[in-house]
Amino acid sequence: MTAMNRRQFIRLAGASCALAALPRAVSAATTAPRVVVVGGGFGGATVAKYVRMWGDNVQVTLVEPNPSHISCILSNMVVTGDLSMNRITLGYDALKTNHGVSVLQGRAMGIDAAGNRLTVSTYSGHQVLDYDHLVLAPGIAFATPPGNWKPGLTPHAWQAGSQTTLLKNQLAAMRGGDVFVMTVPKSPYRCPPGPYERACVVADYLKRKGRTGAKVVVLDANASIQAEPEAFGHAFSVTHAGVIEYHPNAVVQSVDSDTRSIVTTVRTVSNAKVLNVIPNQRAGTITRGLALDAAGFVKVDPLTYATAAYPNIHVIGDSCSVPASDGKGVPKSGHMANAEAKVCANAIVRALNGETVDEDIATNSACYSPITNRKASWLSANFLYGDIYDAAGKVKGKGMHRLDIGEAPEKEVNGDSYEDMYQWADSLFADSFM
Ligand SMILES: Cc1cc2nc3c(=O)[nH]c(=O)nc-3n(C[C@H](O)[C@H](O)[C@H](O)COP(=O)(O)OP(=O)(O)OC[C@H]3O[C@@H](n4cnc5c(N)ncnc54)[C@H](O)[C@@H]3O)c2cc1C
Repeated sequence: MTAMNRRQFIRLAGASCALAALPRAVSAATTAPRVVVVGGGFGGATVAKYVRMWGDNVQVTLVEPNPSHISCILSNMVVTGDLSMNRITLGYDALKTNHGVSVLQGRAMGIDAAGNRLTVSTYSGHQVLDYDHLVLAPGIAFATPPGNWKPGLTPHAWQAGSQTTLLKNQLAAMRGGDVFVMTVPKSPYRCPPGPYERACVVADYLKRKGRTGAKVVVLDANASIQAEPEAFGHAFSVTHAGVIEYHPNAVVQSVDSDTRSIVTTVRTVSNAKVLNVIPNQRAGTITRGLALDAAGFVKVDPLTYATAAYPNIHVIGDSCSVPASDGKGVPKSGHMANAEAKVCANAIVRALNGETVDEDIATNSACYSPITNRKASWLSANFLYGDIYDAAGKVKGKGMHRLDIGEAPEKEVNGDSYEDMYQWADSLFADSFM
C-alpha cells in the first residue's frame, strides 16, 4: 500500500479522470447524431452532460424513471438522521438548462441492437428512441437471497430513497439491548467501504442515543473487511468495541423477513430488531443479453466502455466490469462512475468525428467513510490504461493498471476528513448533475 497524505488525497479526489486532450466538437454542418443514455445516476448524468459539452452538435436524451436522483453517497448519514433526504436529492434541471440534455421520464424496457432502437415505458405509453450510440448506466440489480426476503420489511437501503427512509425509521425505533443485523454482500459490490461505514455510523447513533446494550452484528460473506481494513478494523475493535460484532465468511443461507431472522454459514440470528439485508449484486436488468463476467457485470473495453458485441452500446458505472491489475475489477463507486462517464463521452465524440480512440487515459476513485458523526476516513485508488498483470506478475492483457491505493492513516481519521467529505461530495454532485 502506497502511503499518501491528506493533501495528496484531496488533490487526487478533485479529478476523477485525466484525458490526453479533449475531443473536437461535432461539426454543426452535419445532422446532429443521437446519443441515448439509460439511467440518471452518477454515470448517466455525467455522460449526458459531457457528450453535450464536448460534442456540442449532438442530441442527448437521458432516460430515467425518477424525477430526480437520490444519491447513495452520504445516504448512511440520512439513515442516522444527521442529514435530510433533500441534501442528497439531485435534480435534472441543470442538465436541461445548462447543457441542453433532453430528459425523458421513463424506464428503458428493451434494446433492439440490430436496429439501434431503445423501447422506453413512460406514463403516456411506450416510446421508441433511435440512437447512434447508446450508453447504459442502470446501476445495480440484486440477486434475491435464499429464503423469504421482503425488502419492504428488511430493507437493503443500497439504492437510496424509500429504502433509506425505511431503514432510518427502523433504526430510530431501536431501544437498549436491541440487535441490528446487517449483511455484507460477496465482492464485487457497490461501494466497497459502504457496509462497514454503515455499521460504524449505526453503532455511533446507538451510543449517542443512549441505547445501552444495543448491538450491531455484521455478517460478511467475504473472508475479511473489503476496504480500509486498518480504519474499520480499528473502528470495530476500539472506537465501537462492545457494540459492533464482526463475523467474516458469513454466507447467507436463508432469510426470513417476517421474523427478521437469518441463517449464515457462521452465525444464526433470530428475531433481530432490524435486519438490513444487502444482497449480492449484478448489472442492472436492462443489460441482459450482453456478455457478462463471472460475477454478472458487463464486460467492456476500458477505452470506450463499448460492449464486446456492439461498438455503439456502452456500459458505465456499477453495471460494468473493467479488468484491473490486482485481479479485481476497478471499484464500483460514484466517483469512478463519473470518471468512466468522461472517458466514454470522449470516446463517443471522437467516434462521431471519425477520430481514433484516445489510449492515454487515467481514472481515479475516492470514498470518504464516516466512522462517527464527527470523524471520517478516506480511500483513494488511481488507475492508468495499459498492461495488467496476473498474481505471478505476468502480463495478462490490457486494462486499468492500478498505480496506487491510499487509505487514511489513523491520525487522519478525524474531523478534518469529516469536513472534507462534504466538500468532496458537493464537487462530485456538481460535476455530475450541474
Ligand atoms: C451507502 C453507500 C455509500 C456510498 N458512498 C460512496 C462514496 O463515498 N463514494 C463513492 O464514490 N461512491 C459511493 N457509493 C457508491 C455509489 O453510490 C455508486 O457507485 C454510484 O451510484 C454508481 O453510479 P451508477 O450511475 O452506476 O448507478 P446509480 O447512481 O445507481 O444510477 C443508476 C440509475 O439508473 C436508473 N435505472 C435503472 N434501470 C433503469 C432503466 N431500465 N431505465 C432507466 N433508468 C434506469 C436508476 O433509477 C438510477 O437512477 C455509495 C453507495 C452506497 C450504497
